Amino acid sequence: MSLTAAPAADSCPVCGGRESRPVCLEAWDPITRDAFRVLECAACGIAFTAPRPASLDPYYPQRYRAYGPLVTRLLQMFYGFRISRWARLKPQGGSVLEVGCGPGLMLAAFRRRGWKVLGIERNEAVAESARRALGLEIVTTPVAELPPGVAFDLIILFQVLEHIAEPVPLLRECARRLAPGGRVVMNVPNFASWQSRFAGPQWFHLDVPRHLTHFTPATLQNTLTRAGLELVEMRFASPEHDPYGWVESVNNRLTGRANTLTRFLMGFDPFGPTVLFSFLLGAVLALPAALLAGASWMAGRGALMEASARRGTPSAP
Ligand SMILES: [Zn+2]
Repeated sequence: MSLTAAPAADSCPVCGGRESRPVCLEAWDPITRDAFRVLECAACGIAFTAPRPASLDPYYPQRYRAYGPLVTRLLQMFYGFRISRWARLKPQGGSVLEVGCGPGLMLAAFRRRGWKVLGIERNEAVAESARRALGLEIVTTPVAELPPGVAFDLIILFQVLEHIAEPVPLLRECARRLAPGGRVVMNVPNFASWQSRFAGPQWFHLDVPRHLTHFTPATLQNTLTRAGLELVEMRFASPEHDPYGWVESVNNRLTGRANTLTRFLMGFDPFGPTVLFSFLLGAVLALPAALLAGASWMAGRGALMEASARRGTPSAP
């Protein structure tokens, strides 16, 4: 996999503005422990990671998001609810493109519902294992290089946009690839969430430097407008990621460690007293975390947000 960030390390990834103010002076990568800052663009208000590493390859180890079968099954079950909702756009079956499809679990679920599916996954090893395991059509080319004339009813960017060095050109390409009545659906962490405000640099979903852009509902909407998309709906419910984010964020603040449970589940750390403590804390916090997450969804301050957009009128370049 080769991930290349934009050349200008401290300029705004959305509007290119060069003036910014720090909103977080020191945030550590939970994997490498390298330190980064989070800046807010003076022109468009979006928050972004600085500096953007020249190469992000060292920040995506093989084990990144490589969970065991139990966690995978759980995530699959939760994703099933989302897919049922998204698939209502074309109950008889439509065409879906997932950008950053990973092992292809969402695409497989769409295919079971009679949808025509295509995945883009730039890690060739991951793409190949999804092709073999599920028989899915997965390419490693960017959206802009898909054959001309190919359009989709639904384009999904699930926890992808925050990893992209320049989100506007990608969204613009997605807008161009929408069939009439089509939707782009994206899910990103919410930098204005209660969870982010509570945990600051220790927020589980901050995940610098893999997360290059830190959206709020307002800055996400602004980004969509720049890309020629029009927001249709914003949702905050995220049962698979939000309560868990509370548990890890509280744990980070209590212990001063970074993402103990996640590091264990991804196989970075062996089982030990700290992991045991984190599981016990998770058991104690499970109900309060679920209640808090639910309240934050109703207040529009959930830790994750899902925006659905259709093609609109482009504004600023
Ligand atoms: Zn900006």
